[in-house]
Amino acid sequence: MPSVPPPSPLLSSTLMMVDDDPLMTDLVQTYLEEAGYTRFIATQEPADAAALLRQHRPELLLLDLVMPGISGFEILEQVRADEALRHLPVIVLTAASDPASKLRALQLGATDFLAKPVDPSELVLRVRNTLVFRHYHERLIHYDQLTGLPNGTLFGKSLQALLAKAAARDERTALFSIGVPECRQLRESLDPVAAERLTTVVARRLERLAERFGARREGDGGVRAARLDEQHFTLVIDALPGPQALPAMAKAVLAALAEPVRMRGLDVAPTPWLGAAMAPDDGTSARALCQSADLALTEGRRSGQSLSFASPQLNAQSYQRTLLGAQLRGAAARGELRLHYQPKVDLASRRIAGVEALVRWQHPERGLVPPAEFIPLSEEMGLVQEVGQWVIEQACRDVAAWAADGLGAVSVSVNVAKPQIIGGDLEGVLRRALADSGLPAAQLVVELTESMLMNEVPACLSTLHEIKATGISLSLDDFGTGYSSLSYLKQFPLDELKVDRSFVMDLPGTHADTALVRTVIDLGHSLGMRVVAEGVETQAQLDCLQRLDCDLVQGFLFSRPVTEPALRRLLAGDLPMAATPMAVVAAQLTG
Ligand code: C2E
Ligand code: MG
Ligand code: MG
Repeated sequence: MPSVPPPSPLLSSTLMMVDDDPLMTDLVQTYLEEAGYTRFIATQEPADAAALLRQHRPELLLLDLVMPGISGFEILEQVRADEALRHLPVIVLTAASDPASKLRALQLGATDFLAKPVDPSELVLRVRNTLVFRHYHERLIHYDQLTGLPNGTLFGKSLQALLAKAAARDERTALFSIGVPECRQLRESLDPVAAERLTTVVARRLERLAERFGARREGDGGVRAARLDEQHFTLVIDALPGPQALPAMAKAVLAALAEPVRMRGLDVAPTPWLGAAMAPDDGTSARALCQSADLALTEGRRSGQSLSFASPQLNAQSYQRTLLGAQLRGAAARGELRLHYQPKVDLASRRIAGVEALVRWQHPERGLVPPAEFIPLSEEMGLVQEVGQWVIEQACRDVAAWAADGLGAVSVSVNVAKPQIIGGDLEGVLRRALADSGLPAAQLVVELTESMLMNEVPACLSTLHEIKATGISLSLDDFGTGYSSLSYLKQFPLDELKVDRSFVMDLPGTHADTALVRTVIDLGHSLGMRVVAEGVETQAQLDCLQRLDCDLVQGFLFSRPVTEPALRRLLAGDLPMAATPMAVVAAQLTG
């Protein structure tokens, strides 16, 4: 009798044996059955081995080497070459006196050897050890080590099987794509212990949710939740009572995940994001369904909604975005980008003191695409450096050419995106653009927004100081729409503050509206910055800004952003604003 009883979960493993000797397979089967293994498949036909392996997917193969027709070596080779069977443990049965065969089998990827005639104790021991190792290996490759949740690979496979069963039963399945940003933020804020604790709590909550809502059936692998990466998880709930059940379920999942977690005496409240999709409505394959849920998550994040649902419209939009993203690649090199310029008018002299360069994309089919549509896309696609560099180079060339043509030395402001400052060589790009165009650094302004600087102070600071050292000015765009932290104003070497259009819009308005803008202007001045008001559309707004001592204004009242030739004509005229309403001039020039 075998002396080592195998651990019980291993006993349900499927074992297969290929040996042309029926006495041998019978004997091994008897030994293994006595040890408690119940699933044993044997064949005496080596030619059938490959098909049987693929059909039964055993967890272990016992393989004889010397057989008529196809040898064990050939079968071993086939197994190792087959993507699905590559990792199958194979115990080779050999006569102990044949070291050459052993060596060859080892080279072909045999896991272990068993000497013939077979000793029952040794057989059971080898089988058990191999299975234990296999299960351990399985855990390593299919499970997240921290939470014990399945990983994406295992989840994907199980989801496919689950969806097939749900389709056969005509049932609906919900899939949630979940982001818990705190899992990452905690680690980044150098508290890995708290990050691990939170991640584990999230994992347990997902398991409880799966139990609370899902059906569990016979022969079901039970994979319902997975950890996909540091901050992303997924949850599947099968056998939905009906499509109308999804929203309530999604809300319950969100609420459960948002419950505060007590850590070191403090309550940390996670802020989960959820994308919800449902099969078959939003996809019938695991891949399509996951894509729909991910898309809903991304869309939700983009629009600031913690819960969003997949829909055919969303899928179509995403397709359009993907297409546009692909077309954006190389747009600069193909000459499809354009710069429009909007004048910045100095209120004291009433002359054009500078221009803001605003990029547009001349799309071959869609016409002029505004930056709000393709700049965020270019950031997502990693193309913003390419676009940004083109903008800087073109703007410098244009403005230098205006001065050379006697149109005066105006300054030019370029907008930059976060990846250009963090991770890009912005200072180098700017310096080269100045050198190549001959434009003096004093005529170049870089516009940043508060949201770019947020959480990135140390990384930004050094880049901004380097840029500043070249003589280029820095401007804080859209001031008042972000966090408007006064510490940014103090910490960053800024020269200019741009009051956002949303504040200018309300002028002259109530006392409070005016007071707000006055405060911002005074604040800018007291920190030694010039202040620009954006989006000035009416004479009343202009009068008010003049009273509030604003330095520069920019807006449709004077001119919309215009093409380069049109801007040249504005500069050439450069008439006092009162004499010629520039808006009219510009409107004629843009056409
Ligand atoms: P922004 O830098 O705040 O630019 C001002 C935007 O307000 C421009 O929109 C301009 O056309 C618009 N605007 C100006 N005056 C008025 C007005 O009186 N009324 C109204 N309603 N709007 C006015 P645009 O050109 O569509 O640009 C939108 C945003 O796209 C810009 O906001 C900027 O953040 C971004 N952007 C533009 N060009 C670039 C670029 O080259 N690189 C990067 N990273 N971002 C850019
Ligand atoms: Mg700007
Ligand atoms: Mg702005």
